[in-house]
Amino acid sequence: MHDVAIIGAGVIGCALAYTLSSYDLSLVLIEKENDVAMGASRANTAIIHAGYDPAPKTLMGKLNVEGMRLCYQLCQELDVEHRNTGSLVVAFEESQVNLLKTLLHQGIENGCRGLEIIDGEQARLREPNLSKEILAALWAPEAGVINPWEFALAMAEVAVRNGLAFMPNTEVTGLQWQSDHYEILRGEAPPVKARFVVNAAGVNSDRIHQMVAPPAFEIIPTRGEYYLLDRTVGPLVQSIIFHSPTTRGKGVTVSPTIHDNFLIGPNSEILEDRTDTGVTRKALDHIKDMAVQMVPSLDLSANIRNYAGVRANSKQGDFFIGMSAEHFLDLAAIKSPGLTCAPSIARLASDLLEEAGLPMKEKSSWQGGRRVIRFKEIPEEERQVFIKNNPLYGRVICRCETITEGEIVAVMEREIPPVSIDGVKRRAGTGMGRCQGGFCGPRVLEILARESNREPLSIEEDGRGSLILTGETKGGCARV
Ligand SMILES: Cc1cc2nc3c(=O)[nH]c(=O)nc-3n(C[C@H](O)[C@H](O)[C@H](O)COP(=O)(O)OP(=O)(O)OC[C@H]3O[C@@H](n4cnc5c(N)ncnc54)[C@H](O)[C@@H]3O)c2cc1C
Repeated sequence: MHDVAIIGAGVIGCALAYTLSSYDLSLVLIEKENDVAMGASRANTAIIHAGYDPAPKTLMGKLNVEGMRLCYQLCQELDVEHRNTGSLVVAFEESQVNLLKTLLHQGIENGCRGLEIIDGEQARLREPNLSKEILAALWAPEAGVINPWEFALAMAEVAVRNGLAFMPNTEVTGLQWQSDHYEILRGEAPPVKARFVVNAAGVNSDRIHQMVAPPAFEIIPTRGEYYLLDRTVGPLVQSIIFHSPTTRGKGVTVSPTIHDNFLIGPNSEILEDRTDTGVTRKALDHIKDMAVQMVPSLDLSANIRNYAGVRANSKQGDFFIGMSAEHFLDLAAIKSPGLTCAPSIARLASDLLEEAGLPMKEKSSWQGGRRVIRFKEIPEEERQVFIKNNPLYGRVICRCETITEGEIVAVMEREIPPVSIDGVKRRAGTGMGRCQGGFCGPRVLEILARESNREPLSIEEDGRGSLILTGETKGGCARV
Protein backbone atom coordinates (compact mmCIF):
# COMPACT_ATOMS: atom_id res chain seq x y z
CA MET A 1 0.00 0.00 0.00
CA HIS A 2 1.37 3.42 -0.98
CA ASP A 3 0.74 6.61 0.96
CA VAL A 4 0.33 8.70 -2.20
CA ALA A 5 -0.25 7.78 -5.85
CA ILE A 6 0.28 10.57 -8.37
CA ILE A 7 -1.43 10.07 -11.74
CA GLY A 8 0.54 11.70 -14.57
CA ALA A 9 4.29 12.18 -14.90
CA GLY A 10 4.25 15.60 -16.51
CA VAL A 11 6.07 18.49 -14.88
CA ILE A 12 3.30 18.82 -12.27
CA GLY A 13 3.36 15.17 -11.18
CA CYS A 14 7.18 15.20 -11.18
CA ALA A 15 7.36 18.43 -9.13
CA LEU A 16 5.00 16.98 -6.54
CA ALA A 17 6.91 13.68 -6.45
CA TYR A 18 10.11 15.68 -5.87
CA THR A 19 8.56 17.73 -3.06
CA LEU A 20 6.97 14.74 -1.31
CA SER A 21 10.11 12.63 -1.66
CA SER A 22 11.70 14.60 1.19
CA TYR A 23 9.10 13.14 3.60
CA ASP A 24 8.82 9.65 5.01
CA LEU A 25 6.17 8.48 2.55
CA SER A 26 5.69 5.61 0.15
CA LEU A 27 5.08 7.24 -3.25
CA VAL A 28 4.13 5.97 -6.70
CA LEU A 29 4.03 7.99 -9.92
CA ILE A 30 1.75 6.37 -12.50
CA GLU A 31 2.15 7.32 -16.18
CA LYS A 32 0.39 5.92 -19.22
CA GLU A 33 3.31 6.65 -21.57
CA ASN A 34 6.78 5.07 -21.54
CA ASP A 35 8.63 8.06 -20.04
CA VAL A 36 8.16 11.22 -18.00
CA ALA A 37 7.17 14.50 -19.70
CA MET A 38 5.35 12.97 -22.65
CA GLY A 39 2.39 15.41 -22.70
CA ALA A 40 2.24 19.22 -22.61
CA SER A 41 5.41 19.26 -20.51
CA ARG A 42 7.54 18.45 -23.52
CA ALA A 43 5.70 20.41 -26.22
CA ASN A 44 5.44 24.01 -25.06
CA THR A 45 7.26 27.33 -25.48
CA ALA A 46 9.72 26.51 -22.66
CA ILE A 47 9.36 29.95 -21.09
CA ILE A 48 9.79 30.77 -17.42
CA HIS A 49 7.04 33.39 -17.30
CA ALA A 50 7.75 36.52 -15.26
CA GLY A 51 4.18 36.66 -13.87
CA TYR A 52 2.41 39.73 -15.34
CA ASP A 53 0.07 37.73 -17.56
CA PRO A 54 -2.37 36.05 -15.12
CA ALA A 55 -5.01 38.19 -13.44
CA PRO A 56 -4.28 38.81 -9.75
CA LYS A 57 -6.44 36.83 -7.32
CA THR A 58 -6.54 33.85 -9.69
CA LEU A 59 -4.54 30.80 -8.67
CA MET A 60 -2.30 31.43 -11.68
CA GLY A 61 -1.69 35.00 -10.52
CA LYS A 62 -0.86 33.85 -7.00
CA LEU A 63 1.44 31.00 -8.04
CA ASN A 64 3.33 32.43 -11.02
CA VAL A 65 5.94 34.66 -9.40
CA GLU A 66 6.74 32.20 -6.60
CA GLY A 67 6.96 29.41 -9.23
CA MET A 68 9.25 31.49 -11.44
CA ARG A 69 11.70 32.15 -8.59
CA LEU A 70 11.61 28.51 -7.49
CA CYS A 71 12.23 27.42 -11.11
CA TYR A 72 15.51 29.37 -11.21
CA GLN A 73 16.52 27.99 -7.81
CA LEU A 74 15.72 24.39 -8.79
CA CYS A 75 17.48 24.72 -12.15
CA GLN A 76 20.64 25.63 -10.22
CA GLU A 77 20.23 22.82 -7.71
CA LEU A 78 19.38 20.16 -10.30
CA ASP A 79 21.66 21.32 -13.13
CA VAL A 80 18.77 21.95 -15.53
CA GLU A 81 19.55 24.01 -18.63
CA HIS A 82 18.01 27.49 -18.38
CA ARG A 83 18.74 31.13 -19.14
CA ASN A 84 17.38 34.37 -17.74
CA THR A 85 16.70 36.28 -20.99
CA GLY A 86 13.99 38.78 -20.06
CA SER A 87 10.94 39.25 -22.27
CA LEU A 88 9.22 41.97 -24.28
CA VAL A 89 5.50 42.12 -25.08
CA VAL A 90 5.25 44.35 -28.12
CA ALA A 91 2.42 46.67 -29.17
CA PHE A 92 1.71 47.93 -32.67
CA GLU A 93 -1.45 49.96 -31.91
CA GLU A 94 -2.73 52.23 -29.14
CA SER A 95 -5.25 49.58 -27.98
CA GLN A 96 -2.34 47.20 -27.49
CA VAL A 97 -0.40 49.86 -25.56
CA ASN A 98 -3.37 50.00 -23.16
CA LEU A 99 -3.11 46.25 -22.80
CA LEU A 100 0.57 46.65 -21.87
CA LYS A 101 -0.51 48.99 -19.06
CA THR A 102 -2.96 46.38 -17.80
CA LEU A 103 -0.22 43.73 -17.87
CA LEU A 104 2.15 46.09 -16.03
CA HIS A 105 -0.38 46.67 -13.23
CA GLN A 106 -1.19 42.97 -12.99
CA GLY A 107 2.49 42.16 -12.82
CA ILE A 108 3.13 44.67 -10.04
CA GLU A 109 0.19 43.25 -8.07
CA ASN A 110 1.43 39.70 -8.65
CA GLY A 111 4.88 40.61 -7.27
CA CYS A 112 7.03 40.88 -10.46
CA ARG A 113 10.19 42.97 -10.21
CA GLY A 114 11.65 45.41 -12.73
CA LEU A 115 8.70 45.66 -15.12
CA GLU A 116 8.62 48.76 -17.31
CA ILE A 117 6.90 50.02 -20.43
CA ILE A 118 9.43 51.29 -22.94
CA ASP A 119 8.86 53.02 -26.29
CA GLY A 120 9.62 51.50 -29.70
CA GLU A 121 13.06 53.13 -29.91
CA GLN A 122 14.09 51.75 -26.53
CA ALA A 123 12.77 48.32 -27.52
CA ARG A 124 14.89 48.40 -30.69
CA LEU A 125 17.95 49.45 -28.68
CA ARG A 126 17.50 46.24 -26.73
CA GLU A 127 16.59 44.19 -29.80
CA PRO A 128 17.80 45.79 -33.06
CA ASN A 129 15.92 43.26 -35.24
CA LEU A 130 12.50 44.33 -33.96
CA SER A 131 10.08 45.97 -36.40
CA LYS A 132 10.10 49.74 -36.79
CA GLU A 133 6.29 49.59 -36.51
CA ILE A 134 6.45 48.66 -32.83
CA LEU A 135 5.13 51.56 -30.72
CA ALA A 136 5.91 50.30 -27.22
CA ALA A 137 6.80 47.17 -25.26
CA LEU A 138 6.54 45.77 -21.76
CA TRP A 139 10.00 44.72 -20.53
CA ALA A 140 10.06 41.92 -17.94
CA PRO A 141 13.63 41.20 -16.81
CA GLU A 142 12.76 38.10 -14.76
CA ALA A 143 11.48 35.96 -17.68
CA GLY A 144 13.67 33.19 -19.04
CA VAL A 145 13.88 29.96 -20.98
CA ILE A 146 14.29 26.43 -19.68
CA ASN A 147 14.71 22.88 -20.93
CA PRO A 148 11.18 21.76 -19.97
CA TRP A 149 11.54 17.99 -20.21
CA GLU A 150 14.87 18.05 -18.40
CA PHE A 151 13.18 20.01 -15.60
CA ALA A 152 10.49 17.34 -15.15
CA LEU A 153 12.99 14.53 -15.51
CA ALA A 154 15.46 16.02 -13.03
CA MET A 155 12.78 16.29 -10.34
CA ALA A 156 11.57 12.73 -11.04
CA GLU A 157 15.13 11.37 -10.93
CA VAL A 158 15.76 12.85 -7.50
CA ALA A 159 12.40 11.51 -6.29
CA VAL A 160 13.30 7.99 -7.53
CA ARG A 161 16.67 8.24 -5.79
CA ASN A 162 14.71 8.92 -2.61
CA GLY A 163 12.32 5.99 -2.96
CA LEU A 164 9.62 7.00 -5.47
CA ALA A 165 8.27 4.05 -7.52
CA PHE A 166 7.92 5.19 -11.15
CA MET A 167 5.32 3.12 -13.03
CA PRO A 168 5.39 3.92 -16.77
CA ASN A 169 3.17 2.27 -19.44
CA THR A 170 0.31 2.24 -16.93
CA GLU A 171 -2.98 3.89 -17.85
CA VAL A 172 -5.35 4.54 -14.96
CA THR A 173 -8.78 3.29 -16.02
CA GLY A 174 -10.76 3.69 -12.79
CA LEU A 175 -10.61 4.66 -9.10
CA GLN A 176 -12.48 2.92 -6.29
CA TRP A 177 -12.54 4.28 -2.72
CA GLN A 178 -12.38 1.42 -0.20
CA SER A 179 -13.12 3.14 3.17
CA ASP A 180 -9.45 4.02 3.86
CA HIS A 181 -7.65 3.76 0.53
CA TYR A 182 -8.11 3.84 -3.24
CA GLU A 183 -7.87 0.92 -5.60
CA ILE A 184 -6.37 2.41 -8.73
CA LEU A 185 -7.51 0.34 -11.67
CA ARG A 186 -5.24 -0.19 -14.65
CA GLY A 187 -7.06 -2.41 -17.13
CA GLU A 188 -6.54 -6.11 -16.55
CA ALA A 189 -3.51 -5.65 -14.27
CA PRO A 190 -3.96 -5.87 -10.47
CA PRO A 191 -4.96 -2.51 -8.96
CA VAL A 192 -2.43 -0.24 -7.25
CA LYS A 193 -3.43 0.70 -3.68
CA ALA A 194 -2.86 4.13 -2.14
CA ARG A 195 -4.27 6.14 0.76
CA PHE A 196 -4.18 9.40 -1.22
CA VAL A 197 -4.53 9.97 -4.96
CA VAL A 198 -3.35 13.08 -6.82
CA ASN A 199 -4.73 13.86 -10.26
CA ALA A 200 -1.99 15.43 -12.41
CA ALA A 201 -3.22 13.96 -15.69
CA GLY A 202 -3.01 17.10 -17.87
CA VAL A 203 -5.57 17.14 -20.69
CA ASN A 204 -7.14 14.02 -19.15
CA SER A 205 -7.49 15.55 -15.69
CA ASP A 206 -11.28 16.04 -16.14
CA ARG A 207 -11.67 12.31 -16.90
CA ILE A 208 -9.67 11.28 -13.81
CA HIS A 209 -11.65 13.78 -11.67
CA GLN A 210 -14.94 12.26 -12.85
CA MET A 211 -13.82 8.80 -11.68
CA VAL A 212 -14.42 10.01 -8.09
CA ALA A 213 -16.47 13.24 -8.18
CA PRO A 214 -19.21 14.96 -10.20
CA PRO A 215 -18.00 17.14 -13.10
CA ALA A 216 -16.62 20.43 -11.76
CA PHE A 217 -14.61 21.72 -14.70
CA GLU A 218 -14.25 20.92 -18.35
CA ILE A 219 -10.99 20.66 -20.26
CA ILE A 220 -10.96 22.51 -23.57
CA PRO A 221 -7.96 21.00 -25.34
CA THR A 222 -6.26 23.82 -27.23
CA ARG A 223 -3.43 23.09 -29.60
CA GLY A 224 -0.38 25.28 -30.14
CA GLU A 225 1.92 24.68 -33.13
CA TYR A 226 5.53 25.70 -33.65
CA TYR A 227 8.49 26.15 -35.94
CA LEU A 228 11.90 25.22 -34.53
CA LEU A 229 14.67 27.12 -36.32
CA ASP A 230 18.24 25.96 -36.70
CA ARG A 231 20.79 28.02 -34.82
CA THR A 232 22.45 28.98 -38.13
CA VAL A 233 19.75 31.65 -38.30
CA GLY A 234 22.02 33.65 -35.97
CA PRO A 235 21.26 35.85 -32.95
CA LEU A 236 17.86 37.16 -34.09
CA VAL A 237 16.82 38.30 -30.62
CA GLN A 238 18.31 37.83 -27.16
CA SER A 239 15.07 38.01 -25.20
CA ILE A 240 11.64 36.43 -25.64
CA ILE A 241 9.40 38.53 -27.89
CA PHE A 242 5.63 38.18 -27.38
CA HIS A 243 2.89 39.49 -29.62
CA SER A 244 0.06 40.98 -27.52
CA PRO A 245 -1.89 38.18 -25.78
CA THR A 246 -5.47 37.02 -26.42
CA THR A 247 -7.93 35.15 -24.16
CA ARG A 248 -6.82 31.79 -25.60
CA GLY A 249 -3.07 32.17 -25.23
CA LYS A 250 -0.18 34.50 -24.65
CA GLY A 251 0.20 35.30 -28.34
CA VAL A 252 2.81 34.19 -30.86
CA THR A 253 6.40 34.46 -29.64
CA VAL A 254 9.84 34.56 -31.16
CA SER A 255 11.86 32.93 -28.45
CA PRO A 256 15.46 31.80 -28.13
CA THR A 257 15.92 28.29 -26.73
CA ILE A 258 18.56 27.17 -24.26
CA HIS A 259 20.35 25.52 -27.22
CA ASP A 260 20.46 28.80 -29.23
CA ASN A 261 17.76 27.70 -31.66
CA PHE A 262 14.55 29.72 -31.99
CA LEU A 263 10.98 28.69 -31.31
CA ILE A 264 8.32 30.47 -33.31
CA GLY A 265 4.72 29.96 -32.19
CA PRO A 266 2.27 28.96 -30.87
CA ASN A 267 -1.17 29.53 -32.35
CA SER A 268 -4.27 28.54 -30.43
CA GLU A 269 -6.82 26.07 -31.81
CA ILE A 270 -9.58 24.31 -29.88
CA LEU A 271 -9.55 20.58 -30.64
CA GLU A 272 -12.21 17.86 -30.84
CA ASP A 273 -9.57 15.18 -30.36
CA ARG A 274 -7.34 15.94 -27.35
CA THR A 275 -4.59 13.66 -28.65
CA ASP A 276 -4.20 15.50 -31.96
CA THR A 277 -0.66 16.93 -32.05
CA GLY A 278 -0.53 17.30 -35.82
CA VAL A 279 0.59 20.55 -37.44
CA THR A 280 -1.31 22.34 -40.19
CA ARG A 281 -0.24 24.63 -43.02
CA LYS A 282 -2.92 27.15 -42.04
CA ALA A 283 -1.66 27.51 -38.47
CA LEU A 284 1.98 27.68 -39.52
CA ASP A 285 1.19 30.43 -42.04
CA HIS A 286 -0.64 32.41 -39.35
CA ILE A 287 2.31 32.01 -36.94
CA LYS A 288 4.71 33.11 -39.66
CA ASP A 289 2.71 36.30 -40.36
CA MET A 290 2.57 37.23 -36.67
CA ALA A 291 6.27 36.50 -36.12
CA VAL A 292 7.47 38.37 -39.21
CA GLN A 293 5.40 41.37 -38.13
CA MET A 294 7.55 41.51 -34.95
CA VAL A 295 10.91 40.50 -36.46
CA PRO A 296 10.81 41.30 -40.22
CA SER A 297 14.21 39.71 -40.97
CA LEU A 298 13.05 36.32 -39.64
CA ASP A 299 14.03 33.59 -42.10
CA LEU A 300 11.74 30.59 -41.77
CA SER A 301 13.72 28.57 -44.30
CA ALA A 302 15.96 27.76 -41.31
CA ASN A 303 13.10 25.60 -39.98
CA ILE A 304 14.28 22.14 -38.86
CA ARG A 305 11.11 20.81 -37.20
CA ASN A 306 7.46 21.59 -36.59
CA TYR A 307 5.55 20.26 -33.62
CA ALA A 308 2.47 20.90 -31.52
CA GLY A 309 1.42 20.68 -27.87
CA VAL A 310 -2.08 20.59 -26.38
CA ARG A 311 -3.01 22.99 -23.56
CA ALA A 312 -5.31 21.76 -20.79
CA ASN A 313 -7.35 24.97 -20.94
CA SER A 314 -10.66 25.06 -19.07
CA LYS A 315 -13.85 27.14 -19.19
CA GLN A 316 -13.09 28.92 -15.89
CA GLY A 317 -9.70 30.04 -17.24
CA ASP A 318 -7.76 29.15 -14.09
CA PHE A 319 -6.03 26.12 -12.58
CA PHE A 320 -8.40 23.73 -10.78
CA ILE A 321 -6.61 22.78 -7.55
CA GLY A 322 -8.21 21.30 -4.43
CA MET A 323 -9.42 18.25 -2.52
CA SER A 324 -12.41 17.16 -4.62
CA ALA A 325 -13.24 13.89 -2.84
CA GLU A 326 -12.06 11.86 0.15
CA HIS A 327 -8.24 11.74 0.01
CA PHE A 328 -8.33 12.90 -3.63
CA LEU A 329 -6.44 16.01 -4.79
CA ASP A 330 -6.94 17.64 -8.19
CA LEU A 331 -4.00 19.42 -9.80
CA ALA A 332 -6.10 19.87 -12.91
CA ALA A 333 -6.50 22.21 -15.87
CA ILE A 334 -2.89 23.26 -15.50
CA LYS A 335 -2.57 25.45 -18.57
CA SER A 336 0.17 28.01 -19.23
CA PRO A 337 2.03 29.15 -17.10
CA GLY A 338 1.89 25.65 -15.63
CA LEU A 339 5.50 24.83 -16.42
CA THR A 340 6.64 27.90 -14.49
CA CYS A 341 4.19 27.26 -11.65
CA ALA A 342 5.10 23.57 -11.22
CA PRO A 343 7.25 24.10 -8.09
CA SER A 344 4.74 26.46 -6.42
CA ILE A 345 1.84 24.14 -7.32
CA ALA A 346 3.80 21.28 -5.72
CA ARG A 347 4.25 23.29 -2.50
CA LEU A 348 0.55 24.15 -2.40
CA ALA A 349 -0.36 20.51 -3.11
CA SER A 350 1.88 19.28 -0.32
CA ASP A 351 0.16 21.70 2.13
CA LEU A 352 -3.31 20.57 0.99
CA LEU A 353 -2.37 16.90 1.46
CA GLU A 354 -1.06 17.61 4.95
CA GLU A 355 -4.28 19.47 5.86
CA ALA A 356 -6.24 16.48 4.56
CA GLY A 357 -4.43 14.19 6.99
CA LEU A 358 -1.31 12.96 5.19
CA PRO A 359 1.38 12.56 7.89
CA MET A 360 4.44 14.56 6.81
CA LYS A 361 7.62 13.64 8.65
CA GLU A 362 10.84 14.85 7.06
CA LYS A 363 13.26 12.16 5.90
CA SER A 364 16.65 12.31 7.55
CA SER A 365 18.31 10.51 4.63
CA TRP A 366 17.01 12.62 1.68
CA GLN A 367 19.57 13.00 -1.11
CA GLY A 368 19.09 16.05 -3.30
CA GLY A 369 21.11 17.60 -6.12
CA ARG A 370 22.03 16.40 -9.57
CA ARG A 371 24.91 16.93 -12.01
CA VAL A 372 25.01 16.26 -15.75
CA ILE A 373 28.10 15.79 -17.92
CA ARG A 374 27.82 18.02 -21.01
CA PHE A 375 31.03 17.10 -22.77
CA LYS A 376 31.09 20.02 -25.24
CA GLU A 377 30.96 22.49 -22.33
CA ILE A 378 33.98 20.95 -20.57
CA PRO A 379 37.31 22.86 -21.02
CA GLU A 380 39.63 21.19 -23.55
CA GLU A 381 42.28 20.09 -21.03
CA GLU A 382 39.63 18.38 -18.84
CA ARG A 383 38.17 16.63 -21.90
CA GLN A 384 41.44 14.78 -22.38
CA VAL A 385 41.19 13.47 -18.81
CA PHE A 386 37.62 12.34 -19.43
CA ILE A 387 38.64 10.51 -22.59
CA LYS A 388 41.63 8.91 -20.85
CA ASN A 389 39.40 7.64 -18.04
CA ASN A 390 36.61 6.58 -20.39
CA PRO A 391 37.42 6.34 -24.13
CA LEU A 392 33.65 6.46 -24.92
CA TYR A 393 33.91 10.24 -24.40
CA GLY A 394 36.25 10.28 -27.38
CA ARG A 395 33.57 8.97 -29.77
CA VAL A 396 31.19 11.63 -31.08
CA ILE A 397 27.81 10.08 -31.95
CA CYS A 398 25.72 13.18 -32.66
CA ARG A 399 27.76 15.42 -34.93
CA CYS A 400 25.34 18.33 -35.00
CA GLU A 401 25.33 18.71 -31.20
CA THR A 402 28.72 17.08 -30.41
CA ILE A 403 27.30 14.42 -28.09
CA THR A 404 29.60 11.53 -27.23
CA GLU A 405 28.95 7.86 -26.61
CA GLY A 406 30.11 8.42 -23.03
CA GLU A 407 27.21 10.82 -22.44
CA ILE A 408 24.67 8.38 -23.91
CA VAL A 409 25.95 5.56 -21.70
CA ALA A 410 25.87 7.94 -18.71
CA VAL A 411 22.16 8.72 -19.20
CA MET A 412 21.46 4.98 -19.40
CA GLU A 413 22.80 4.74 -15.85
CA ARG A 414 20.57 7.46 -14.38
CA GLU A 415 17.61 6.85 -12.02
CA ILE A 416 15.09 6.78 -14.89
CA PRO A 417 16.95 5.45 -17.93
CA PRO A 418 15.60 6.19 -21.43
CA VAL A 419 13.74 3.44 -23.28
CA SER A 420 13.47 5.06 -26.73
CA ILE A 421 15.59 7.04 -29.20
CA ASP A 422 13.76 10.23 -28.22
CA GLY A 423 14.21 9.31 -24.56
CA VAL A 424 17.98 9.46 -25.18
CA LYS A 425 17.44 12.72 -27.11
CA ARG A 426 15.64 14.32 -24.17
CA ARG A 427 18.41 13.31 -21.76
CA ALA A 428 21.64 13.52 -23.75
CA GLY A 429 20.65 15.97 -26.51
CA THR A 430 21.36 13.62 -29.44
CA GLY A 431 19.30 14.44 -32.55
CA MET A 432 18.48 17.96 -31.34
CA GLY A 433 20.42 19.65 -34.14
CA ARG A 434 20.06 20.38 -37.81
CA CYS A 435 19.74 16.76 -39.01
CA GLN A 436 17.20 15.96 -36.26
CA GLY A 437 18.70 12.52 -35.69
CA GLY A 438 18.97 11.51 -39.35
CA PHE A 439 22.64 10.59 -38.93
CA CYS A 440 22.97 9.63 -35.27
CA GLY A 441 19.60 7.82 -34.90
CA PRO A 442 20.88 4.36 -36.01
CA ARG A 443 23.97 4.69 -33.78
CA VAL A 444 21.83 5.71 -30.80
CA LEU A 445 19.59 2.70 -31.48
CA GLU A 446 22.59 0.37 -31.39
CA ILE A 447 23.91 1.83 -28.13
CA LEU A 448 20.47 1.80 -26.51
CA ALA A 449 19.93 -1.86 -27.47
CA ARG A 450 23.42 -2.83 -26.29
CA GLU A 451 23.27 -0.99 -22.95
CA SER A 452 19.75 -2.16 -22.09
CA ASN A 453 20.25 -5.75 -23.34
CA ARG A 454 17.38 -5.40 -25.77
CA GLU A 455 16.91 -6.55 -29.32
CA PRO A 456 17.37 -3.70 -31.83
CA LEU A 457 14.01 -4.69 -33.31
CA SER A 458 12.28 -3.77 -30.03
CA ILE A 459 13.63 -0.20 -29.87
CA GLU A 460 11.07 2.55 -30.42
CA GLU A 461 11.55 6.04 -31.77
CA ASP A 462 9.41 7.65 -29.07
CA GLY A 463 6.04 6.55 -27.62
CA ARG A 464 4.76 3.01 -27.36
CA GLY A 465 4.40 1.30 -30.75
CA SER A 466 6.73 3.67 -32.64
CA LEU A 467 9.00 0.82 -33.77
CA ILE A 468 11.78 1.70 -36.16
CA LEU A 469 12.99 -1.63 -37.54
CA THR A 470 10.75 -4.25 -39.15
CA GLY A 471 12.99 -7.32 -39.42
CA GLU A 472 16.40 -8.77 -40.10
CA THR A 473 17.99 -8.42 -43.53
CA LYS A 474 21.15 -10.25 -44.58
CA GLY A 475 23.50 -7.70 -43.14
CA GLY A 476 21.45 -6.15 -40.32
CA CYS A 477 17.98 -4.68 -39.76
CA ALA A 478 15.59 -2.98 -42.18
CA ARG A 479 14.09 0.40 -41.27
CA VAL A 480 10.35 1.08 -41.45
C1 LIG B 1 1.47 25.01 -26.63
C2 LIG B 1 1.81 25.19 -25.18
C3 LIG B 1 2.69 26.19 -24.78
C4 LIG B 1 2.99 26.37 -23.43
N1 LIG B 1 3.98 27.23 -23.08
C5 LIG B 1 4.31 27.37 -21.78
C6 LIG B 1 5.40 28.17 -21.39
O1 LIG B 1 6.13 28.71 -22.23
N2 LIG B 1 5.63 28.34 -20.07
C7 LIG B 1 4.86 27.77 -19.10
O2 LIG B 1 5.07 28.01 -17.93
N3 LIG B 1 3.86 26.92 -19.45
C8 LIG B 1 3.60 26.69 -20.75
N4 LIG B 1 2.61 25.82 -21.12
C9 LIG B 1 1.88 25.11 -20.09
C10 LIG B 1 2.65 23.93 -19.56
O3 LIG B 1 3.31 23.23 -20.59
C11 LIG B 1 1.67 23.01 -18.85
O4 LIG B 1 0.91 23.76 -17.95
C12 LIG B 1 2.36 21.90 -18.08
O5 LIG B 1 3.27 21.21 -18.89
C13 LIG B 1 1.29 20.96 -17.57
O6 LIG B 1 1.90 19.88 -16.94
P1 LIG B 1 1.04 18.64 -16.47
O7 LIG B 1 1.97 17.77 -15.73
O8 LIG B 1 -0.20 19.13 -15.80
O9 LIG B 1 0.52 17.99 -17.83
P2 LIG B 1 1.25 16.99 -18.84
O10 LIG B 1 2.64 17.36 -19.09
O11 LIG B 1 0.36 16.89 -20.03
O12 LIG B 1 1.27 15.62 -18.04
C14 LIG B 1 0.12 14.86 -17.80
C15 LIG B 1 0.53 13.41 -17.85
O13 LIG B 1 -0.55 12.59 -17.46
C16 LIG B 1 -0.51 11.41 -18.22
N5 LIG B 1 -1.84 10.80 -18.19
C17 LIG B 1 -2.97 11.27 -18.74
N6 LIG B 1 -3.98 10.42 -18.52
C18 LIG B 1 -3.48 9.39 -17.80
C19 LIG B 1 -4.03 8.19 -17.28
N7 LIG B 1 -5.33 7.89 -17.45
N8 LIG B 1 -3.22 7.34 -16.60
C20 LIG B 1 -1.90 7.63 -16.43
N9 LIG B 1 -1.33 8.75 -16.92
C21 LIG B 1 -2.11 9.62 -17.59
C22 LIG B 1 -0.11 11.90 -19.60
O14 LIG B 1 0.42 10.87 -20.40
C23 LIG B 1 0.92 12.97 -19.26
O15 LIG B 1 2.23 12.48 -19.26
C24 LIG B 1 2.34 25.58 -22.47
C25 LIG B 1 1.48 24.54 -22.87
C26 LIG B 1 1.26 24.33 -24.21
C27 LIG B 1 0.46 23.14 -24.64
